[in-house]
Amino acid sequence: MVMGEIERDTQIVVIGAGPGGYAAAFRAADLGLEVTLIDSAPALGGECLHHGCIPSKALLTATHLLDQIRAASQMGIRAEQVVVDPATMQQWKAGILEQLAKGLEQLAERRGIEIVHGQATFTGSRHLRISNGEAGSLAFEQAIIATGSRPMHLPGVEVDGERVMTSREALQLQAIPERLLVIGGGYIGLELGSVYARLGSQVTVVELTAQLLPGIERDLVQAVQQPLWKRGVDIRLRTKVIGVRSGGQYLTVDLAQESGTTQALEVDRVLVAVGRRPNSDGLNLEQTGVKLDARGFIQVDAQRRTADPQIYAVGDVTGEPMLAHKAAREGKVAAEAIAGEPAAFDNVTVPAVVYTEPEIAFCGLAEEQARAAGYRLKVGKFPFRALGRALTLNATEGFIKVIADAERDILLGVRMVGPGVSDLIGEAVLAIEMGAQLEDLAVSIHPHPTLSEAIAEAAEVALQRAIHIYHPRPKTK
Ligand code: FAD
Ligand code: NAD
Repeated sequence: MVMGEIERDTQIVVIGAGPGGYAAAFRAADLGLEVTLIDSAPALGGECLHHGCIPSKALLTATHLLDQIRAASQMGIRAEQVVVDPATMQQWKAGILEQLAKGLEQLAERRGIEIVHGQATFTGSRHLRISNGEAGSLAFEQAIIATGSRPMHLPGVEVDGERVMTSREALQLQAIPERLLVIGGGYIGLELGSVYARLGSQVTVVELTAQLLPGIERDLVQAVQQPLWKRGVDIRLRTKVIGVRSGGQYLTVDLAQESGTTQALEVDRVLVAVGRRPNSDGLNLEQTGVKLDARGFIQVDAQRRTADPQIYAVGDVTGEPMLAHKAAREGKVAAEAIAGEPAAFDNVTVPAVVYTEPEIAFCGLAEEQARAAGYRLKVGKFPFRALGRALTLNATEGFIKVIADAERDILLGVRMVGPGVSDLIGEAVLAIEMGAQLEDLAVSIHPHPTLSEAIAEAAEVALQRAIHIYHPRPKTK
């Protein structure tokens, strides 16, 4: 303890105020526990609110609108001379973040949560040190680590935050680069690559593996890749970046294909989006009993308790999938477990959404995974081009696919690519969590005309009784 520093104590300390951390803190306070929430950032909300989910979706919305304006002439609406003002777009985005962060601060204050701004490091299983802010020490009964993740870097590619960027800087650009190279064809690469392609940048996406969004089924990825191609996005698969050289006004990027061919490409900016790594180093976890796996993720049990019984961990720092909604659920589970409730992270599925055009959304098992697990399957696929609402929305790309156990008709997985599927997937998640059968989806009345009808239609296809798709049947006479 240094003279002049504050010495605090608390029942529960939560380190990190992202979706995992603030959910844990709010739930713990609501369960009557005394909570201190520490974050080194100036505002609550974490990576998701300030540098991730929300700013990226704001820019995706704004640039999607631009696309829609351009396509409106076929509906008899001509909007000539559309002008994009990136500074105003950034201000609009900043206003959303500010409003949400303020809301979180008010919700924390109302719950009596003590907020501390500073960097936390462990000095033992019951003690923390806080620096770079409201310096001091803190004694706690239980801690919840929710420190999130940060971008991975590539050898030979030095991020300077200006011309060679991570998603943080790419979300804050005040000017539209003429030529943008995106390293990594994953979630961030495709979402932010789409933003800049819509704004008029010549975008090149370099992906190490044989397909974009590795791990996601080919039919879903194809539905996204085709429109990117049509828009002029240059997609280089099985390719890696060996280095980036500064050539005065522009950057020269050296690419190497799997085949051995090399090429130099001139670009104005580079976005590095090759995955994220956990913020578990720098916490001084050696002072605790917390154990890490080989990639640095904190190992946790179903209650999100670490190997140190006083310390819990939630969110990106505990591993894949690194998604905000998974972090939030884990945060609530940890808080409830500490409060003595019978809580466990026992969700059947964590949904995922890629906000490309069209969007991809999925939950539960893929066909291949289900077959590998020994299931015989009933699969039903319904295309959006056969759906009235999709036509009236002028968005007919894609389909919904349901995958069920053929023996009991129980839904195992749902795959969606198309308009609005980021919202439609919620129904599929609920159905899987509740053990719904195809029949439940098929006979539940879905409002007409809506995109949600495609879920019921896909279930009817799987049950071989679709009316909007014709199946020739053997004559019964
Ligand atoms: P974070 O949100 O990363 O928060 C961690 C907090 O801990 C930070 O505020 C940090 O300042 C603080 N911290 C770290 N170390 C310390 C320390 N030692 N002391 C004090 N404070 C500390 N997920 C989705 O589900 N949907 C999306 O659409 C989506 N879009 C994304 C877009 C981008 C560009 C990025 C980068 C990510 C996106 N994600 C999305 C992922 C999502 O942001 C993360 O899964 C989520 O933020 C994880 O939440 P968390 O609570 O674990 O940590
Ligand atoms: P990612 O894992 O989604 O994609 C990284 C991509 O980079 C992969 O396709 C990988 O094969 C490729 N890659 C790796 N090394 C490479 C190299 N040397 N050269 C070229 N390509 C290389 O990671 P991300 O896009 O950085 O996003 C990180 C995480 O953030 C995601 O996994 C996801 O959990 C989260 N996120 C979610 C959303 C969403 O939910 N919509 C959006 C953005 C980010």
